[in-house]
Amino acid sequence: MSKFFRYKLFHFLPVFLFLNSSILQVKSSSDLAAWELKTNGVLELKTKSNTNLKAYFQKANKIYGDRFWVDFPGELKNPRTIKGNGQIKEIRLGKPNKGKTRLVIEFKEGTYLNPLTWRMVGVDQNRWRIKLFRPKYSFEKIGEGYVGKTKPNFKANKNSINEKKTNYDYLKLPNVEQNKFLVVIDPGHGGSDPGAIGIGGIRETDVVLEVSKMVEKLLTEKGVKVSLTRRNEVNLDLPPRVAFANNLNADIFVSIHANASRGKRRDINGLETFYYRGGRGRLLAKEIQKQILKVSPGSPDRGVKQGRFYVIKNTKMPAVLVEIGFLTGRLDSRRLEKTNHRKRIAYAIAKGILEYLHKVG
Ligand SMILES: [Zn+2]
Repeated sequence: MSKFFRYKLFHFLPVFLFLNSSILQVKSSSDLAAWELKTNGVLELKTKSNTNLKAYFQKANKIYGDRFWVDFPGELKNPRTIKGNGQIKEIRLGKPNKGKTRLVIEFKEGTYLNPLTWRMVGVDQNRWRIKLFRPKYSFEKIGEGYVGKTKPNFKANKNSINEKKTNYDYLKLPNVEQNKFLVVIDPGHGGSDPGAIGIGGIRETDVVLEVSKMVEKLLTEKGVKVSLTRRNEVNLDLPPRVAFANNLNADIFVSIHANASRGKRRDINGLETFYYRGGRGRLLAKEIQKQILKVSPGSPDRGVKQGRFYVIKNTKMPAVLVEIGFLTGRLDSRRLEKTNHRKRIAYAIAKGILEYLHKVG
């Protein structure tokens, strides 16, 4: 027996993208959720997220034909055999030992197989595909359960699916020269000044501090040095924020805020980014605004504007103040109270900053 591959792909998210067992025919605590051998000889598997698969092949012997099998963590409840057709003799689901599930595909004699070319590909964090053979004559698909992308109308999965898609895009952050740039991130307000108070009591100071720390982490991973004007709930006046950035001689200054509308109107939502001086400040504002809009579908683009805010007026470097949504707005606040959305916004701000640094060099 040769164990010829062991792939562990797509570990990009900790979200648990599984699977209402009531809609699937495979009922077990097994990591295998669904499988299908298609008419073109491709085997598709659906598993729990981030599982560990092991796949094997064995040439025919006196007892068995050529066999391909995959082992999954988790024990199968009801071992079974499914009759094959065409070049497939049968498919067996079993538990080779406690806590394991094994899916065996047994081929009929005389099927030409080339296992050295086989590659198990992770097409999603919970879906796998491998081309096993080329059907010579008509082959009817065999399978159990639904192997496609989990349908977005499953309530429990809705957010995970959206997040997966978005995160996937936003993990592609642009590269910049390592250890060259210093960015000062300024989480607005703090301490006895909570900033805007939104629907359900959501506080600007909390939202922007968390987002700022996320931005810091993302930029640091990209080799950009980051300093935050505050890291916790402290009172911090505006002049020290400016002095902090000026003394560090930072390359850019990004102040992060969330909005409130007069009269706390729930129908007012949107994102806007301010700069004071033209040229680079404006470019930085544009890059950030472009990215945050992408992760805030439906929320109005209030534009890139010139603003006379103290922190962007008095800092020496290109400086912007970004308003990541209205805590008093129904749409924005519902999003901003969620960690997932804060992450998306942080990715977007980091991406905007990196795009800017990449352009300016
Ligand atoms: Zn503010």
